[in-house]
Amino acid sequence: MNYLSTRGHPDRKRFCEILLEGLAPDGGLYLPDEYPQIDTATLAKWRKLPYAELAFEILSLYIDDIPPADLKAICAKTYTPEVFGTEEIVPLRELEDGVYLEALSNGPTLAFKDMAMQLLGNLFEYELARRGAELNILGATSGDTGSAAEYAMRGKKGVRVFMTSPDGRMSPFQQAQMFSLQDENIHNIAITGVFDDCQDIVKAVSNDLGFKRKYRIGTVNSINWARLLAQVVYYFAGYFQATASNDKPASFTVPSGNFGNVCAGHVARMMGLPIQTLVVATNENDVLDEFFRTGIYRVRAAADTHETSSPSMDISKASNFERFVFDLVGRDAAKLRSLFVDELGGQGRFDLSGDPAFKQAAERFGFKSSRSTHADRLATIRDTDKRFATLVDPHTADGLKAAREHLAPGVPMVVLETALPIKFAATLVEALGHEPARPARFEGIEALPKRVVKLPADAEAVKAYIAQNCD
Ligand SMILES: *Cc1c(COP(=O)(O)O)cnc(C)c1O
Repeated sequence: MNYLSTRGHPDRKRFCEILLEGLAPDGGLYLPDEYPQIDTATLAKWRKLPYAELAFEILSLYIDDIPPADLKAICAKTYTPEVFGTEEIVPLRELEDGVYLEALSNGPTLAFKDMAMQLLGNLFEYELARRGAELNILGATSGDTGSAAEYAMRGKKGVRVFMTSPDGRMSPFQQAQMFSLQDENIHNIAITGVFDDCQDIVKAVSNDLGFKRKYRIGTVNSINWARLLAQVVYYFAGYFQATASNDKPASFTVPSGNFGNVCAGHVARMMGLPIQTLVVATNENDVLDEFFRTGIYRVRAAADTHETSSPSMDISKASNFERFVFDLVGRDAAKLRSLFVDELGGQGRFDLSGDPAFKQAAERFGFKSSRSTHADRLATIRDTDKRFATLVDPHTADGLKAAREHLAPGVPMVVLETALPIKFAATLVEALGHEPARPARFEGIEALPKRVVKLPADAEAVKAYIAQNCD
């Protein structure tokens, strides 16, 4: 399997070459040069597999530069009941007739990002050992990504994590999750500033190519193909649980920000998994909902990006969207470039409303969308508690609301649960008047000793800190 860039760079790469890379050299995103097709016999065989073996089968189709026995061991070590809480790893449960919740948030940090990040940690450790190399991961987080990355990389050989976050702006629970880690290879850096300052620092450091090379700086952001690939697996696992046989379709609703999670659903569908509809659920930051309704993709300025009560979906542009648009325009890299480089780069928008390709977004690729507000979120949390005695987090609530707008008779609708409610306790208290239950292992974490340094919003200070801690 070879990987290409959405922007037409002539090079083709293998999986392990792009594993440790971010963007392609021309600024595009990596995609496999074709999607492996799953026939009915294979689907029938996969239906019976435990999660780790299913993961191995799917990953094998995309990874041919790790010996199968090693890849199998990596999958077996990653997807265990000890790490993810149940034998099923992603158990499905019916909420009401035809509407299901797929639990993706029982990993170490209680958000779905663990599903991919835990695998990435093991793949990184394996590949770095094979190369005799080291990697220093530099990131910016306002919550879920940073903690998932730290819990995936803690104690891993060859990897250090330098994670910046805006000082005092994460929820106390999220802060405690990250700062209580005492592993030597994990460095929490609280920046005096806001999340954008943290992102600017990461950009500035990455743009200093000399520093980047000398200190082997890498990232784990959501454009990483390995993360996306890991997420493809739970669409298959969800489908098998929601249907009795492989001739039945199912639909998925996905709380979406950077379009990483739902893009994995698109990949599963392209492989031939019988997915009828992929519903993109957004909050007030509705860049994606606007596109699927109108054909216009318009990125927002920082001032027009709202701080909402489903904060992990507060995006101004959807960094993985380019992957889907590449398929939408028939994998025409010249056309993709004109949309993303010329039009988006020039006017901050492109318009496919008059293009026959846009019609295909729904008809051929199965995409639909919906948008939720704070009031919707609170109402859904209350309703789900009252009618089903189930607590959902604000992001999953956005998904449930969207799912109900796109139900089709006889087709199970699987809503992806992207976090547990305890991570967003303040909104749960606002909706219900009480705190959600906390898994026993997180009792009292706010009182644990904290390992964090405070630095000014200055890339030079962060560089100096990295240099000091790299020997
Ligand atoms: C990251 C995240 C999302 C958004 O996922 P994308 O892959 O960026 O679309 C939704 N909900 C939660 C809880 C998250 O942490």
